Amino acid sequence: MTMDLDTVREVVRARERADLGGLRAGTAVLAGGTWLYSEPQPGVERLIDITGLGWTPLTIDEAGLEIAATCTLQELAAGRYPPEWDATRLFEQGCGALVASHKIRRTATVGGNICLGLPAGAVLAALTALGGFGLVWGSRADQWIPLSHFVTGVGETLLIPGEVLRAIRIPESNLRSRTAFRKIALTPLGRSGAVVMGRLDPDGGCVITISAATVRPTVLEFRAMPSAGELSAKIAELERDLWYDDPHGAPDWRRHVTGLLAAEVAAELVGDRS
Ligand SMILES: Cc1cc2nc3c(=O)[nH]c(=O)nc-3n(C[C@H](O)[C@H](O)[C@H](O)COP(=O)(O)OP(=O)(O)OC[C@H]3O[C@@H](n4cnc5c(N)ncnc54)[C@H](O)[C@@H]3O)c2cc1C
Repeated sequence: MTMDLDTVREVVRARERADLGGLRAGTAVLAGGTWLYSEPQPGVERLIDITGLGWTPLTIDEAGLEIAATCTLQELAAGRYPPEWDATRLFEQGCGALVASHKIRRTATVGGNICLGLPAGAVLAALTALGGFGLVWGSRADQWIPLSHFVTGVGETLLIPGEVLRAIRIPESNLRSRTAFRKIALTPLGRSGAVVMGRLDPDGGCVITISAATVRPTVLEFRAMPSAGELSAKIAELERDLWYDDPHGAPDWRRHVTGLLAAEVAAELVGDRS
């Protein structure tokens, strides 16, 4: 990718973890660069490219799946997973919900999508829906943070300067869950107005994750499959300022369609059980 950010004076290609120690004010992590290079970055003078660190994109073990932050969206969507991991279909559905071309999909990384923290971050939403945890490297001790807490607002995360998202882990039992996915946008190829993902776990627990409609991924957890009334009551209880407002949908419309999509997701999860 060519350098057309006129404030940037230096691009450092990290080869080992110690090279990340150079992250300081005025320095940004560069992953796929699909967002970083898409708009001016005032205040950024230096980039540290993490794509040369050689992290294995996908690692399958007994505990589940580890996804390197530098795994591309294409690698995630096209990964070969154990056949009993039904829930991995959310990867393709999440990648497909982005308003991004195939070229971007091949370059953009999972970590970049999460750290950007956009309401339309559908890969972030899919990994949140699957109960993922993010491993954060920084000057403090390494930490595993539930993705459901990672994003705090539009474009805001718990990361502090100097910290890097290293990987995401999905527990094995969640990968065997049944899932359902619904998306709506104001125009056929437009940015999502609401995306709802559901997960029905082998122990009967149900998790409904709302994104695009809300300023951050919003997770509703139930010990058992909720009735239609319980589900809509839970959505109605969500704080008013959680509903996102931009040209891709008004907050009231987003709340309304989220209720409809969540009901469809719940019905599909139950239907699949027979
Ligand atoms: C045409 C177009 C359409 C797009 N559509 C969407 C969309 O629908 N939804 C959406 O969410 N995004 C969209 N994007 C934005 C972006 O392409 C994606 O979010 C992509 O996944 C970002 O990944 P990246 O690797 O390219 O990140 P980069 O551009 O390299 O980085 C993004 C941000 O995350 C930080 N970062 C990256 N990796 C790490 C890490 N491991 N640790 C700490 N910080 C890190 C960077 O410093 C930067 O602030 C779109 C972009 C374009 C150009």
